[in-house]
Amino acid sequence: MGGFLENLKNIFTVPTGDTTSKFVTFTIRCNKCGEEITVRARKNSDISRVSEGEKLAGAEYFLRKEILGEKCNNLIYIEVSFGPGFNIISKEISGGKFVE
Ligand SMILES: [Zn+2]
Repeated sequence: MGGFLENLKNIFTVPTGDTTSKFVTFTIRCNKCGEEITVRARKNSDISRVSEGEKLAGAEYFLRKEILGEKCNNLIYIEVSFGPGFNIISKEISGGKFVE
């Protein structure tokens, strides 16, 4: 027994290396209640490519996301610009702070 579940686990467990390539992760803290929230942005859906005409300061990708924690109803907004290879060029937040 247990073999079937073990197989399922193997299917749904994503190798660590793969996860880091598909997601960009941020840790933020809510200004209202202090909750730390881990934000995972999917490179292929949450993050959009900046079109040629709109490129600002070398930004290749752009992320705009609303985050709601579990402890209060304070909405946090983040806006992040990425250069080639998803290195962060600039990031802005309202309603919370980035935790380094
Ligand atoms: Zn909060």
